[in-house]
Amino acid sequence: MIGYTCKYTPVELFAAFGGACALLNREAGDFEYAEGLTHNHFCCHAKAVLEESRTGGLDGLALVNCCDSLRRVYDVKKGEGGLGFLFLLDLPHHDGDCAHARLTAELLRLAEAFGAFTNTAFDPAQFRAAFSPGAALPEGPFLALLGARAGEGLLAALRARSPLPVADFTCGGNRTLPPPPDGCPDTLEALMDWYAGALLAQIPCMRMDGIGRRGELLEHPGLKGLIYHTVKFCDYYSFEYETLRKASPAPILKLESDFTPAAAGQLATRLDAFAEQLSLQTAPAVLKRGTGRYVAGIDSGSTTTNAAVLDLEGNLVASAIVRTGPRARDGAEKAFAALGGLTPADMAAIVATGYGRSSIPFATGAVTEITCHARGAHHLNPAIRTIVDIGGQDSKVICLDEGGGVSNFVMNDKCAAGTGRFLELMARTLEVELDQLGPLGLQWREDLTISSICTVFAESEVVSLIADNHSAADIIHGLHKSVAVKTAALAKRAGGTGPYMMTGGVARNQGVVKALEERLEAPLWIPETPDLCGALGAALFALEGLC
Ligand code: SF4
Ligand code: SF4
Repeated sequence: MIGYTCKYTPVELFAAFGGACALLNREAGDFEYAEGLTHNHFCCHAKAVLEESRTGGLDGLALVNCCDSLRRVYDVKKGEGGLGFLFLLDLPHHDGDCAHARLTAELLRLAEAFGAFTNTAFDPAQFRAAFSPGAALPEGPFLALLGARAGEGLLAALRARSPLPVADFTCGGNRTLPPPPDGCPDTLEALMDWYAGALLAQIPCMRMDGIGRRGELLEHPGLKGLIYHTVKFCDYYSFEYETLRKASPAPILKLESDFTPAAAGQLATRLDAFAEQLSLQTAPAVLKRGTGRYVAGIDSGSTTTNAAVLDLEGNLVASAIVRTGPRARDGAEKAFAALGGLTPADMAAIVATGYGRSSIPFATGAVTEITCHARGAHHLNPAIRTIVDIGGQDSKVICLDEGGGVSNFVMNDKCAAGTGRFLELMARTLEVELDQLGPLGLQWREDLTISSICTVFAESEVVSLIADNHSAADIIHGLHKSVAVKTAALAKRAGGTGPYMMTGGVARNQGVVKALEERLEAPLWIPETPDLCGALGAALFALEGLC
């Protein structure tokens, strides 16, 4: 079995010599072996290939010189030895005449090497039989997955969560080449000449020059959205992503994964929110009517659980904000207990949102926090076009259209930098109460900058500043600027425009608000209870679901 990683790999050529190929696309539980041969900041997919190449029972590897990472995989495997067959295909970057001739020569070189390895001759009939028919583009509505490859676990999760078929156009997907035409002579040279053209005529990957046949994909009437996936430490994607962002008529969701099995779970909220954004899932359909005289929204976050209760006329009658604790379900029960006597039995419907939304047994429906924040924000102030939400463990920016629908969003939920947790840790280091950070930071005199983007490094930077006798006010001001820089970058990525609203617990910190307003060069509108926006949106969905 020959392992391969790229849709330009000539797998039909291997079949012509009696060989079989397997796509290496499995996420890795850890990268111990791969990092021992490379380094930590090496492309996570390339590391996963190294891991899989060791455990997959392979006789050989066929790689393309796609990028420095895959070239490095080749070098490492060559240096290590142990594989019977190892080949690096020199793949062109475009599909012009010279590129075609170059790839033809590479295919002939591969044929010679594999023929020698297997001690067999090229069989034109086996070559022709190896092509599988299939349409390049789906017929009905679909979502297209583009960018760097998605591991098999992530792909399965995407397909399971998506309300529409997901067509995979990443490195390992959508490989349907037509068989050679009957008129093509059965010589190796003639077939390889045709084959080079067919391989290069596929819908191009992110490494190829120009958008080429990708335009055909973007113009397809069935295309309802693009999911753009990139792998941690991959550099290629940024060029193509920017081009697609400008060219795509369909909404784009950008995802990044680290090619581990945990990635699919971490991306679940983004996928669900994207489906809601595309209006492919309707919130009321998941609601069930109870007999109560109220409706509730429960926003189950990693730090706090927030509840909002509306009467059937839409008036806010009760709310609560409690610490979530170790279990989402317990946090939701605590929130209800803090509602002044109201219980789930008093509710006609309860919509859960936030990270713990699937773990609240008495909820009658669930909607992502992206959609709920949008709904809540639009209800509070219909003029708002961008919501900046900084919660305990994540931050997000949500762009709204005129009707309050989500037009785009970005989330930062894998790193505590720039979140409430970051400020909590820094308050502890400075021995300052969390709610004192805001007022204290506004009393700064010296304009300090905390340059580390990582919470751990920022903490040691703060310790050094304390040792250098800088005042707490100046250090806190530096921390607030650091949160503002990260959040403004997120807003820029989302394409956010004013009027802006800020929600989440960090909106109570006047120092962060001021620093962020300076970065955005625009005022932030802060609701009276900024933590409740998501719960309010969930309660509004509950109410609408009764109609
Ligand atoms: S980016 Fe293109 S050349 Fe590189 S592995 Fe993916 S499909 Fe192959
Ligand atoms: S994900 Fe990016 S860096 Fe990694 S192998 Fe693919 S193209 Fe290269």
